[in-house]
Amino acid sequence: MKSIRVHGFRLGVHTSIAGGISKSVERAVALNANTFQIFSHNPRQWRENRITEEDAERFSILRQKYDIRPAFIHASYLINLASPSDLILKKSIELLSYELTNADTLGAEYVVLHTGSVSGESGRTARSRAANAILKAVCKKRHSSSLLLENTAGEKGDITSSIRTLAEIMEMCSCESMAGICIDTCHAFSYGYDLTSSEGIERLLSEIDKYIGLDKLRLMHLNDSRRPLGSHIDRHEHIGKGFIGIKGFKKILSDKRILRVPLILETPKETEDDDKRNLKRVCEILNSRVKS
Ligand SMILES: [Zn+2]
Ligand SMILES: [Zn+2]
Repeated sequence: MKSIRVHGFRLGVHTSIAGGISKSVERAVALNANTFQIFSHNPRQWRENRITEEDAERFSILRQKYDIRPAFIHASYLINLASPSDLILKKSIELLSYELTNADTLGAEYVVLHTGSVSGESGRTARSRAANAILKAVCKKRHSSSLLLENTAGEKGDITSSIRTLAEIMEMCSCESMAGICIDTCHAFSYGYDLTSSEGIERLLSEIDKYIGLDKLRLMHLNDSRRPLGSHIDRHEHIGKGFIGIKGFKKILSDKRILRVPLILETPKETEDDDKRNLKRVCEILNSRVKS
């Protein structure tokens, strides 16, 4: 496989931290990736062991040695900044702050967040609550890492599925640490952006340009979708095996506005070779594009 490094793209996967956080870099290197994403701790627990100094140092030495950047931390799934419960909101703010602190310790550039969801309340109210929470957890602290908000699939109660809703939060909590957005292709497609067509891709990118700014698009999660367009269900699929398909990814990956952004796969890991296979598929698409 021709290395992705040859062409200057940034491509990687979400890697495991099992056995120590620096192991995640080794796994990225083994896959020939040049960017990656991790959980900084078990994402289904409120808190876990702190990262040791030794492991953090090894993490950054390995990243430097192999030129793996940026590093993204995917924030815990327990965080819900839209929660009307004071207790959940307080714990969510603490946990988000903890994620950014971990990123600072590791020298990771970004934390990626699913902002939250709520039922029985207007989205606007929930988004202003989330923006206030971000002000507390992120903007009022001095972090060297930055926050990215990810678009969601539009499942019941989601408050950040459209570009306009992401923009609404960003406007309410603009600060240096609030760096921008991450677009997940599976989520965008499930929500209703038809990424199999040039018109759908244009719609997504022109909304980002209009409401947020393309310079604030800092990460793409490349995932195919197990569910059809507009299903509002978040089920990731292997690249080319879902409803976006190879044809869709060929269109997505031929857009220069997308190619300048780091690309990270969060595709299913059912067998050991899944990451390799999905990365290979993306590389083949990118290489065919470079040749043509
Ligand atoms: Zn994602
Ligand atoms: Zn997802």
